[in-house]
Amino acid sequence: MDFLSLAQKYKTPLYVYDLDRIKEQFLNFKNAFFGRKVLICYALKANSNLSVIHTLSCLESGADCVSIGEVRRAILVGVKKYRIIFSGVGKSDEEIKEALETDILFLNVESQQELERIEFIAKELDKKARISVRLNPNIDPKTHPYISTGLDENKFGVDKETALKLYLYAKNSPFLEPVGIHFHIGSQLTDLAPITASVEKVADFARSLLALKIDLKFFDVGGGLGIAYANEKTIELYDYAQTILRALKGLDFTIICEPGRYIVGESGYLVTKVLYEKHTKTKRFVIVDGAMNDLMRPTLYQAVHKVRVCFKNKPQKDSESLCDIVGPICESGDYLAKNVMLPSLASGDLIVFENAGAYGYSMSSNYNTRKRVAEVGIERGEDRVLKHRENFEDMVSDELKILQGAQNGFK
Ligand SMILES: *Cc1c(COP(=O)(O)O)cnc(C)c1O
Repeated sequence: MDFLSLAQKYKTPLYVYDLDRIKEQFLNFKNAFFGRKVLICYALKANSNLSVIHTLSCLESGADCVSIGEVRRAILVGVKKYRIIFSGVGKSDEEIKEALETDILFLNVESQQELERIEFIAKELDKKARISVRLNPNIDPKTHPYISTGLDENKFGVDKETALKLYLYAKNSPFLEPVGIHFHIGSQLTDLAPITASVEKVADFARSLLALKIDLKFFDVGGGLGIAYANEKTIELYDYAQTILRALKGLDFTIICEPGRYIVGESGYLVTKVLYEKHTKTKRFVIVDGAMNDLMRPTLYQAVHKVRVCFKNKPQKDSESLCDIVGPICESGDYLAKNVMLPSLASGDLIVFENAGAYGYSMSSNYNTRKRVAEVGIERGEDRVLKHRENFEDMVSDELKILQGAQNGFK
């Protein structure tokens, strides 16, 4: 990939996505379940750029959404409503209402109170709400605590006893229709054992529900499949699919998967430009134009992204030394990489952060009144902008209008 031309054409910092690679990842994922009834619902929160979702929707992807905004994004780019599911612990009344009116496939329910709200709203709309209960299997996924979701101490899902109560309640309500069962134990999973244990546990529970004549059709295994950021060993797609299929032996479910990171993570790059080098008494810092507001993962999860110098103004061969790569934000936590070996760098050199396609731009913010960066896609060798860099006016227009209105009022 020619990052120098892209940086010259679109400026930096810049997100670049390889759309062909995204398609390939999606198709590989889908093909791992070849011959089975399976619906892949891409988890929009990983990267919710409309062009990215559209690329996947053309391959008949569904959408796993965690806000009504994401449901709207999915609908906007043509994801079929019967391939959209809505998860999350805190759905508001307005969100539930719109999801039911939109007639999406189902809502993943995470508490008794939520189920009652859904029933109440469905009754008002004179609809029957399709639901699935998120079971918390209480299994340690062995990932970072911030992205671990399947333990009793986490806010997600309900335990087996509660789930049973919810299913019986739903079965007896004229406004609720239990159609699925769901779990999601965490993100960036690199160990198959907790997944196997969870699928088996939830499959056993599903069998007991079927015995009670609760007629489930969908078995939703969540997302979470990890990718290799550094040199960690990851789960093979084949093994992932086989462990699920084995646990569901004899059960006639449509399998739903909600991969996010696996589909888009490896296809994304954050391109940054070196501004300065700075040496303190004990450390070497490379200061770049990208920062924690553009790529939050290092600061938030101590995540490691592979770093590559992709352009040097003076390509002399000099020795490498340890440094931290930091941004311009006024926080000591503002770093993009720590203790990496890099040659001496000068203003204008380019550094790329790899595997930045998931939870990169989608987590970015305007902190320090920094513009959210541009997103560019590469498809069949051609580059095109997928979202323009924000400008200052975009950031202040609402506040400015309010302030000007108030000043007029004072006159
Ligand atoms: C975040 C999330 C996903 C996607 O997780 P990845 O690790 O990106 O695959 C899927 N399902 C639910 C419910 C989520 O919260």
